[in-house]
Amino acid sequence: MKAEICVIIIFSSWQKNQKPLICILNYLWRKKMHILVIGGAGYIGSHVVKALVGAKHKVTVFDNLSTGLEMNLFPENGFIKADILDYGAVKKALQNKVDAVVHLAAKKAVGESMEKPEKYALNNICGTLNILNAMAETGVNKLVFSSSAAVYGNPEYLPIDEKHPVNPVSFYGFTKLDIENYMRWYGQLKGLRFVSLRYFNAVGYDEEGIVRGLEKNPQNLLPIVMEALLGKRSKVQIFGNDYDTRDGTCIRDYIHVSDLASAHVSALEYMAKGGESQILNLGTETGISVLEMIKATEAATGCKVPYEFAGRRAGDPAVILATPAKAHEILGWKAVHSSVDNIIKSTWKAYNA
Ligand code: UDP
Repeated sequence: MKAEICVIIIFSSWQKNQKPLICILNYLWRKKMHILVIGGAGYIGSHVVKALVGAKHKVTVFDNLSTGLEMNLFPENGFIKADILDYGAVKKALQNKVDAVVHLAAKKAVGESMEKPEKYALNNICGTLNILNAMAETGVNKLVFSSSAAVYGNPEYLPIDEKHPVNPVSFYGFTKLDIENYMRWYGQLKGLRFVSLRYFNAVGYDEEGIVRGLEKNPQNLLPIVMEALLGKRSKVQIFGNDYDTRDGTCIRDYIHVSDLASAHVSALEYMAKGGESQILNLGTETGISVLEMIKATEAATGCKVPYEFAGRRAGDPAVILATPAKAHEILGWKAVHSSVDNIIKSTWKAYNA
């Protein structure tokens, strides 16, 4: 098998007029990178780690386990229990022959960010500056950053593309945008290359059931629906049924976490091939309303979801949809796990494991 791959590389390098040895080294180097996944024990991070391991990369997880879970760690990977606010620990982790970093460690509760901005400034902004500075100091220059649709604020047009104005309406969204600006400057001044992935609504669990750690104190719709189904909460409150949408409830672009994870692998491999810095939306351009999500959950699980209509939640736009066309063009990435049925069934499976 290896010999066949070498023959293919030599042939294609001869066609491209390149030196075969360099191509083989490139291939071998690209084949296996050492990735430091900061926040790799969390909900999205653990799925990213699973995808990286599946793509044969070496992974070290760096996580303070404040919201991440020990059960999300894979025994074959390295693990450093430390905080991104500890500059020495970040630098030491990077000095261990790391090729690239995926950074997902952040506080992410939008409501809380409005009440405790100082917590978000410290963890998200100062923590990331530590990572950027330590990367500059150690010469690690490739970063995949978990950004958010929250950088856009209220949509001015739909679907949202990356040229849409950025105008966050939460402090959380502001921290993500601020970090993107720092990354641009570090790109200019320090040679950083980055891919900032703006996630829309992350949902689902890996279908194989390998990642099983449930989020502590979830704030998002689908985990709340699951908890209501399992009797862990009395009912789901639907925040507003008087929006200008097909059934009066808010429409969102839900993307399966395994699709998010594969985009991280593609982004790292894109940078390893010399790709320049990018900011990319990760969504599906398919909208599902809150009520549709509840009805689809009832159909997929055969159980009735207890719910009631409540007032609107502050800051909720009626509809959010992303076009992922740029991610497709640059990374060749496409969402393939994000059908409503798969989103719900994989989540239900995780909640019943
Ligand atoms: N939502 C709801 N009840 C809940 C949680 C969320 O009606 O208990 C609605 C929320 O108003 C939004 C959608 O579900 O329209 C998705 O909210 P979520 O918090 O999951 O993500 P967001 O869109 O805020 O990033």
